[in-house]
Amino acid sequence: MSAKQISHHLQPHWVVHMNRRIRSQSFAVAFLILATHVFFTELSPWLYPALAFSFLLWPQLAYLRARKSVNSMYSEFNNLIIDSVIFGMWISGLGYPVWIAFILSISIAVNLMVFRGPQGLMQALAGLAAGIVTGSLFAGLRFMPDTHWITTTLAISGISFHLLLVSYIAFTRNEVLHQSRKQQQLIEKELKQQIEENRLLQEQLQEQANRDPLTGLYNRRYLDDSLHREMARCLRQGEPLSLVLIDLDHFKKVNDEYGHSAGDYVINQLAAILTSLSRASDIVCRFGGEEFLVVLPGTGLEAAVARAEEYRRMFEETTMTIEGINLTVTLSAGVACSSREVLPHDLIRQADQALYRAKESGRNRVCSQAPSTDQAQKA
Ligand code: GH3
Ligand code: MG
Ligand code: MG
Repeated sequence: MSAKQISHHLQPHWVVHMNRRIRSQSFAVAFLILATHVFFTELSPWLYPALAFSFLLWPQLAYLRARKSVNSMYSEFNNLIIDSVIFGMWISGLGYPVWIAFILSISIAVNLMVFRGPQGLMQALAGLAAGIVTGSLFAGLRFMPDTHWITTTLAISGISFHLLLVSYIAFTRNEVLHQSRKQQQLIEKELKQQIEENRLLQEQLQEQANRDPLTGLYNRRYLDDSLHREMARCLRQGEPLSLVLIDLDHFKKVNDEYGHSAGDYVINQLAAILTSLSRASDIVCRFGGEEFLVVLPGTGLEAAVARAEEYRRMFEETTMTIEGINLTVTLSAGVACSSREVLPHDLIRQADQALYRAKESGRNRVCSQAPSTDQAQKA
């Protein structure tokens, strides 16, 4: 436990401070009321020191007791019970003066009710009863219900003062509670905002990690994850899945003649064409330097070849202007399709073999995996 924690641990509960305030002030008023009663009804002067002990000294002793206690809250509850016993003793000891009995009983009942609810009320009544019995043992049974009008006036003012004090303290505690609740809501809101920002940032980072910085297409890393998933899904749903592997023709020459940034421009143009001709469910990836792979879930071989042909034709027909020079580049594509269980890299190898044949047979064409179903087309 740190020094700060220890000092916090030894700090008395706020209720202890609050009760000290209520007890010191209200008991001082009660002292005045009871002292006037002793004076006007000409009771024994020995009662004055007893009153001083009960109503002036006891509040301070009660505070010290609660403050020194390890469980200050618990000892404060005990103090309230002792209050009720003291009150009971004075009620019976003075012969049940109605106004004094009323103010003492109602104030202790309110005090305990505030802290412990109905259970507190029962404890207050039990304490008062215990005090009344003890007081009767000391003073015997007597009945003197009247109080002097000055005592009565003081009693009415005193109880009003006490009830207003308790209400005011309840109000300020409520205010503090309301403020801290508002602050807590604010913190919660900020926390939620931060969590949402983190989530968005994480999504962005994830997205960046999956994208190729030059073209913005998915990268090889993403392909490795998603191809496996898509193939399993298509197999489960009994649908075919096709791959189109694309490689730019004589791309070294483009780089050599027009420069590397011109080559980048061409790569970006092809990326834009592939994206524009693909469906949302297709996965368009930059597979390597100037190689691209398009995953077509739910697409058979014939449709995939037709799509590859669309890519090829549109790219061939795209004239790119680099530093005032018009330039056209072509591509070759290999298509592979699977409706059975096959490993992702085996399907890619089949597409690569088809691409190899497209290159071998003169470039700017689309070839598909099986020689029997080859649909080599040349512009
Ligand atoms: P082929 O028709 O046989 O494919 O001939 P090719 O010249 O295209 O040969 P190859 O596919 O082996 O060449 C790939 C070239 O692509 C080599 C490399 O300089 C170039 N390249 C790879 N990545 C990039 C890139 O990001 N930007 C540019 N500008 N060029 C790249
Ligand atoms: Mg290549
Ligand atoms: Mg090439």
